[in-house]
Amino acid sequence: MKKIVVKFGGSNLKSNEDLNRVLNVVKTYNRPLVIVVSAFYGVTNYLEEGIQKVQQSINHIDEIGNFIRNLKKEAIESHIHGKNLQDEVSKTIDARLEELGNCLKGIHYIGDVPDFLEDKVLSFGEKLSSLLLTAILKHNGFDAEEKLPEHIGLTTFGESKNASIDFKTSQNSVQKALGENKIYVVPGFYGISPKGRIALLGRGGSDYSAASFAKLINAESLDIWKDVDGYLSSDPKLVDNPKKISNLSYKEAAELSYYGAKILHPRTVEPLMEASIPIRIFNITRDNPTLTPLSIINHETNITNSVIKSVTYSDNFSVLRLSGPGVGIKPGILRRLTTLMDNHDINIISIVTTGTCINLYLEDIDLKEATLLVEEGDFHAIASITPLDSKSIVAIVGEGIMTNYGFVYRMLQAVTEEGINAEIISGGASDVAAYIVVETVERDRAIRVIHREFFN
Ligand code: ASP
Ligand code: MG
Repeated sequence: MKKIVVKFGGSNLKSNEDLNRVLNVVKTYNRPLVIVVSAFYGVTNYLEEGIQKVQQSINHIDEIGNFIRNLKKEAIESHIHGKNLQDEVSKTIDARLEELGNCLKGIHYIGDVPDFLEDKVLSFGEKLSSLLLTAILKHNGFDAEEKLPEHIGLTTFGESKNASIDFKTSQNSVQKALGENKIYVVPGFYGISPKGRIALLGRGGSDYSAASFAKLINAESLDIWKDVDGYLSSDPKLVDNPKKISNLSYKEAAELSYYGAKILHPRTVEPLMEASIPIRIFNITRDNPTLTPLSIINHETNITNSVIKSVTYSDNFSVLRLSGPGVGIKPGILRRLTTLMDNHDINIISIVTTGTCINLYLEDIDLKEATLLVEEGDFHAIASITPLDSKSIVAIVGEGIMTNYGFVYRMLQAVTEEGINAEIISGGASDVAAYIVVETVERDRAIRVIHREFFN
């Protein structure tokens, strides 16, 4: 029997009530699973801050240990009965916290934070979740076992922060390690570099971990539990009565994540599309969660009446506009620009060129440095450099958007009638997504009118 990979994120791991819900869900499945967990809500950020504090004073190590111990204490007391058993679980948590403490001591005494050590410290958030959840499951009668990526050969390319899973190298050992008919609990967010060190998969990366495990064991599905009702036609904080989206294609889900929808990490779809493993989204906060998904993502392309499935956005990006006669057709200039940015770890989100302009889409935090680099970069063809900050992308996504016509026009018309300037317009680069760039202050209004245009 194939297994299902089930992922519980930080928002499912906030309180005792959340743990009750997780237990209930596992009971409902009533079958062997691979459960991938995130850190308890806020713990990764807490550890990140801790790394900074520990450099100043060694006293913070105990503070961090106590904070996490307290977080787990309540869970242990209400889910594990009997003093002896509680003590036993507390001891295993203490042992893991001691390991964390040793890493933090290392950082304090070196007075620096090598990448590999930062990755290791941040991985403890997930590793404490998996340890505790395994203990609670066992205590509740489940045949559960914790497996750590470092013990089962979940190998990555690349060393740290944003590593990718090396599926070929990992496959045999991971399959073997997760092969029995029981419930395995694995921490998400990291794998092991070729040098044997902990390598993070990027912030929010436990969705990607879960997708990778699903691919590696050829799971029946990847089930992601959230605290919202799956995919909606837009952000419920911005529009009235957004529609629920019950079916999405892999491409639609990938574009929605790319353009800012928070349901899935942008890398989740990548491992599963090729393997044709469906992703199913559930809401754990519903009164009686059933195993009927709210949204399901697979190869099927369901073109709805509105064609557009969702209007989404992403903020915090800037455009660096480089103008000059013929700049868009000078051979080699794009290569030089991208190499320059890459050498300084600046991520280019997108490039849009015309005959006289090159527009680099960057994250806001990189704009200043990128502007300086181009200014000092001796680019003869570039006559003027214009940094434009605080922009938002508002995107419409849906299969059929480019094979049927008029959608980009309708999006533009909606914002224009509202007096909002679409500074850049893009359609056709993907066959399921189109977008406009607006000032961030106009973003909410733009979303409302575009949503109204397609859904009311
Ligand atoms: N705990 C990690 C983070 O906060 C990974 C995750 O939650 O997906 O980034
Ligand atoms: Mg997440």
